[in-house]
Amino acid sequence: MPAELTIERTAETICPFCSVGCRVELGIAGNRAVIARGADGPANRGRLCVKGRFGFDYLAHPERLTVPLIRREDAPKNPELHLTGADVLTLFREATWDEALDRAAAGFLKVKEKHGSARLAVLGSAKSASEDAYVLQKLARTVLKTSHIDHCTRLCASIPPLTEAIGTWTVTLPFSHILEADVALVVGSNPEVNHPVAASFMKNAVRRGTKLILIDPYRQPFARHAAYHLQLRPATDVALLSAMTHVVIAEDLIDHAFVSQRLEGFDDLKARVSAYPPEVAARVCGVPEESIVGAARLFAKAPNAMCFWGMGASQHAHGSDNMRALIALALVTGQVGRRGAGMHPWRGQNNVQGSCDVGLLPMCLPGNRNISDAGERAFFERLWQTDIPGERGLTVVEILEAAAAGEMKGLYVSGGNPAMAAPDLAMTRRALASLEHLVVQDIFPTETAAFADVVLPAAALAERSGTVTNTDRFVQLVETAVPPPGAARPDWEITCEIATRMGARWNFDHVGAVFDEMVRAVPALAGMDWATITRERQLQYPLSADPSNGGSLFATVFPAIGGKARIAALTNGSPGELPDEQYPLILVTGRVREHWHTGSMTRRAKTLDALSPESLVHVSAADFARLDLNDRERVEVLTRRGSVRLPAVCDERLQSGVIWMAMSFFEAPANDLTTRHLDTLTRAPEYKFCAARLIRDESK
Ligand code: SF4
Repeated sequence: MPAELTIERTAETICPFCSVGCRVELGIAGNRAVIARGADGPANRGRLCVKGRFGFDYLAHPERLTVPLIRREDAPKNPELHLTGADVLTLFREATWDEALDRAAAGFLKVKEKHGSARLAVLGSAKSASEDAYVLQKLARTVLKTSHIDHCTRLCASIPPLTEAIGTWTVTLPFSHILEADVALVVGSNPEVNHPVAASFMKNAVRRGTKLILIDPYRQPFARHAAYHLQLRPATDVALLSAMTHVVIAEDLIDHAFVSQRLEGFDDLKARVSAYPPEVAARVCGVPEESIVGAARLFAKAPNAMCFWGMGASQHAHGSDNMRALIALALVTGQVGRRGAGMHPWRGQNNVQGSCDVGLLPMCLPGNRNISDAGERAFFERLWQTDIPGERGLTVVEILEAAAAGEMKGLYVSGGNPAMAAPDLAMTRRALASLEHLVVQDIFPTETAAFADVVLPAAALAERSGTVTNTDRFVQLVETAVPPPGAARPDWEITCEIATRMGARWNFDHVGAVFDEMVRAVPALAGMDWATITRERQLQYPLSADPSNGGSLFATVFPAIGGKARIAALTNGSPGELPDEQYPLILVTGRVREHWHTGSMTRRAKTLDALSPESLVHVSAADFARLDLNDRERVEVLTRRGSVRLPAVCDERLQSGVIWMAMSFFEAPANDLTTRHLDTLTRAPEYKFCAARLIRDESK
């Protein structure tokens, strides 16, 4: 903070950068946020990580969108170009809100009349407030009349396997219960980077005696806290987790009461894991047999154990099988339904939970209700006073593939940035360029906005009121801490304006009215209303839960049909593409601590960008030596989709044959390289595995 600034007031908001949902106190001078401190939120209890502490000044970045924009007649949509920021603005002229909204609505109406509703799609964002997501899916279903609505949660989907097993996609207990757990099993997650404040509680727990089992191919610094780090070969999770379950069954460490009274599918599981004795898994996974056996015993014998999993588990062509294998281990050992015992799949973005709860998904209506069920649809047709489509819609990558094939004609992107976030960006850019009508609503001129016909300036989370729901099921109030810049408006308001121009008659005169309708639509929110959330500021759902359990659910019954958990069948599939002579390395993508997702906000936060200013490809020590590279030498990374040039660094924590890149740098977009292989259940892309080649950059 500059020394001459005096803080005139403070205001609280929620950090927008991950699902921990830390409460932040902003110090404000001259209507600008100038400092951030940790406030006493239910998840962070005063703590912040580097993003929460130093990542707020994007709010006042000069590239904020402040007026609506309409594409210039002569501005080409060139899929070969990867534009962002000021370069995007040169493609547009300024417009009034009325002109831009009329243009946005007229374009959707034209596509609907010419091609039909099935040629329209909507992409939202898990960084928007729940009210934005609710209104957006309502627009899609009741006005555009399409089920093709999805958002970036798809790209890291951890929800379907949990729903399949226990009948709900919510975590069974808050992450802070690790302080009461004897053992924590963490699979495919690097919490010090991706959920740093949660990681700080995990480290507190380890210091108090909790034993940590980490399953991850990368020897991340967090591994120093682990009793066991099972450093498996990439994409061998099913074999490893099945071997642990094999040990549990072979040594009779199962929870017999739980298995007999609360579980279906045990016999099939027993037969399946018999193919994975630990000595076999040890060879497949590259993990010592005794470590597999030791970790399995530690987990199963713990009075209370928790499981966490992240995108390292889910972002595979067989990610749902990874999660099914982990869930099976937790269930047969009865490690669920108590304080300190349960399952906590990390949500990635700040409002993954909220945006899914309110139905920003192609297969679910609000409240996790099946869109194919006529009875469920009838409820919403009464609530919304109109008919809605009943078929399952396309997911993120499928929508883009349909556009690239000329089958999707109109797209409304609110808060998402598929031109950086989606896999195989060459295809994604072709898809966006081929649309007849693209409306992008955002706070910055993103890579996706470069293809828009109309760009609508939105308010950031700290500039409006509403709610977001964190990974622990806390619905948290956000209030207007600073005003939005120029003519920018809250997302939900903009969407309502488009709906009105397309003939809808909604009565949302305030964000609270949206919240109250949301409560009627989402059973999990039962008992809440805008007045209460405004007063209480945070409420953990379900309100009906026994408070003595501290947010742990399902002590006696699961919300699945029949009340029992179910172990799903699974296969031990292989990645969508394997290394070969031409592409001998495995490319894994991920994030760095300082940047969030596509970097549209954190790259514009001065301190964060100074701390982490450039994309680097991390190369294992063995490969670094074999390729005779020098530190930060520029290299070219190639896959079957494309190539990027960037400096290379030696990373002794990587296994031989593996390279790693972060996804947040537009200068070297990692997703120019990634594949479109999708998990069969979650439809999440395989960001954690593709075949690559690395050579010296001869263009230097
Ligand atoms: Fe908290 Fe996540 Fe924000 Fe860090 S990025 S301050 S852990 S919400």
